[in-house]
Amino acid sequence: MSDSGNKKRRVGIMGGTFDPIHIGHLILAECAYEQFQLETVQFMPSGNPPHKTDREGGATDEERLEMVSLAIRDNPHFSLDAEEMRRNGFSYTSDTLVALRKSHPDTDYYFIIGADSLLSFESWREPEVISRNCVLLAAARDQISVSAMEEKMTELRRRYGAEIHLLRTPNIDISSTNLRCWRQEGRSLRYYVPDAVLSYMKQKGVYQDRIL
Ligand code: ATP
Ligand code: MG
Repeated sequence: MSDSGNKKRRVGIMGGTFDPIHIGHLILAECAYEQFQLETVQFMPSGNPPHKTDREGGATDEERLEMVSLAIRDNPHFSLDAEEMRRNGFSYTSDTLVALRKSHPDTDYYFIIGADSLLSFESWREPEVISRNCVLLAAARDQISVSAMEEKMTELRRRYGAEIHLLRTPNIDISSTNLRCWRQEGRSLRYYVPDAVLSYMKQKGVYQDRIL
């Protein structure tokens, strides 16, 4: 999708439920910023993702938003885009990207995903539309091998003409699901989430006394 000799803005998108945001998300975004010379990375908490309608015991939209905001506030090249959350109903990445490209034709978008999202990419809504409207950056996760990722990337390039690159990151073996469970069990999340996020969780009782 990027045209040659382009002077377009290079903007990363870190989409997710962020329930809660954790160091995995933050490290991915920072690596993408650094390795792909991005101007900024926009964190985009999803409204009501079709595959996560059962997040019982999860944080409210407002809490997820606030946790993202607290987590990124010290990083000048990170920002928060709450557009998907404001929209009613399900939010689809393809719709979001089409809308973004329409309102910002001067910008190339780099959509950052983990290996689990890469492997399930074809089950996303309109993968061909997503592929046309962003560059995909895929990072290691869940000990998924680089060769399995490369194989999938080759397939997506062939099938959808996707521009897709490997993001070099360590395997960061944590998920929001783990963190929600640990918090329920009273285990410490220190160092897994920024201190400000942890303080907020404690203050609001996020994930405590909620059925998981
Ligand atoms: P959940 O367990 O609730 O699904 P999660 O930790 O997977 O939460 P999401 O908000 O679903 O977080 O993830 C948003 C994006 O970040 C996805 O593309 C996912 O693959 C990626 N991601 C999340 N955590 C990691 C991690 N530890 N390493 C690499 N990628 C990650
Ligand atoms: Mg996930």
